[in-house]
Amino acid sequence: MEKILNYIGGELTPPLDGAYLDNVNPATGKVYSQVPDSKAADVKRAVDAAKKAFPAWSALSASERAKYLSKISDLITKNLEPLALAETIDNGKPISVSKSVDIPRSAENFSFFSEMIKEFTSYEFDDRGKGRNTVHHSPVGVVGCISPWNLPLYLFTWKVAPALAAGCTVVAKPSEVTPMTAYLLAKICQEAGLPPGVLNIVHGLGQNVGSAISKDPDIKALSFTGSTVTGKMIAKDAAETMKRLHLEMGGKNANIIFADCDFEKTLETTVRSSFANQGQICLCGSRIFVERPLYEKFRNALVEKVKVLKQGDPTHPETQQGAVVSKIHFEKVMSCIARAKTEGGKILTGGHDVKIGEGYFIAPTLIEELSPYCKTNQEEVFGPVATITPFDSEEDVIEWANSTQYGLAGTIWSNDENKAERVALKIDSGIVWINTWMLRDLRTPFGGMKESGRGREGGKYILEFFSNVKNICKG
Ligand code: NAD
Repeated sequence: MEKILNYIGGELTPPLDGAYLDNVNPATGKVYSQVPDSKAADVKRAVDAAKKAFPAWSALSASERAKYLSKISDLITKNLEPLALAETIDNGKPISVSKSVDIPRSAENFSFFSEMIKEFTSYEFDDRGKGRNTVHHSPVGVVGCISPWNLPLYLFTWKVAPALAAGCTVVAKPSEVTPMTAYLLAKICQEAGLPPGVLNIVHGLGQNVGSAISKDPDIKALSFTGSTVTGKMIAKDAAETMKRLHLEMGGKNANIIFADCDFEKTLETTVRSSFANQGQICLCGSRIFVERPLYEKFRNALVEKVKVLKQGDPTHPETQQGAVVSKIHFEKVMSCIARAKTEGGKILTGGHDVKIGEGYFIAPTLIEELSPYCKTNQEEVFGPVATITPFDSEEDVIEWANSTQYGLAGTIWSNDENKAERVALKIDSGIVWINTWMLRDLRTPFGGMKESGRGREGGKYILEFFSNVKNICKG
């Protein structure tokens, strides 16, 4: 059985104490590889390697660093097929999604920041009699990156690429549930000739590896994506060393559909925005609100579309719904469905598991007749479960959309752009889509309000996070 290795100081290396965890294919329920169960001592080795590599890496010009990023991007693209297959086996997501979204975006993360870093230069203020001011950026030092399982390589590289571009050296931890593509990325970095210690990847559990990264005094900044519960633990662990923190956390996003929307486009996109990646995307619109005159027609059409989604072997090219990521997550989602029933929810479609071998499959589930304030509508499920609720006024739907602890994303559907923008400005979230979903210009800020996030990724925002900013003022 394949043993995944850590990547420290340019070498692929086993954990110091030789301990491993089983890595399960969620579509079969079978162990198919092993992942290092690394501990604080492995993190220490990685931090030492990153410290050693920092002076030379940070001294390179932006365009010299960009060449490495660009090479890595090309190699990801060259290896699209094996990377996509590895992602699908590790995560349970349909191969069509791995091939068209996860792996291309991982390559783009590197190519985008290889260009963006060249524009992220020092700049001058115009002289208004208060001195001749310039602003300089310098890499903050050794940084940590901790990422989740839902978009494994995509979110891992969304942090690692800008950190490297900014001139930082990195100690990164992928999710222990989906470690395979980060391991393959380590091999790609070797092939690209990335200098030893510039990127270090330590696999293992959050409470061991993640916590050691959060507490390490030599790690100057930490970018995390995962649940709000973990984000709060990281904030506590990081407080002692006062390291800079960027936190991307949970979401419970509203999908607001006005009666004057483009019906077919709204319907087709709502199927995706509710159930893509088995609903395991932080941006999924798991709370669908439909203006009452359209409610019945839209709900019935949506049910028909969801019922015919093809569920099965994620490696089959036509599969649209794969497995959820793990047994633990399967049980959590099933218990959320059971709770929705006790809260008075009426299951319109789904609501049960699907027996395909020993895999963790759940039928895409749509629920109505729930209060916007019940737990199902307030807490993150992060699975193939969406609720649908009619609304009568803009005021009501804005109040419901904003009623959760989260504030990551929202979607509005209407052919009246003024109305859509008016509502968008009142939604408490870091991003609002109007008549689209998941469209992203990587230069724009990405992140959440309230308990969904602190700080922003994307473009210059994440480059600033990984940089010290210095003002030099000449009299
Ligand atoms: P998680 O919080 O359980 O784990 C995320 C990462 O943190 C993993 O690598 C994990 O090992 C690590 N971790 C766990 N405990 C830790 C600790 N005590 N200290 C340090 N690290 C620790 O999240 P998950 O289950 O992997 O992912 C799902 C969650 O991620 C959902 O809540 C989802 O909304 C969120 N998410 C948010 C975004 C966003 O952009 N806001 C994107 C994707 C996923």
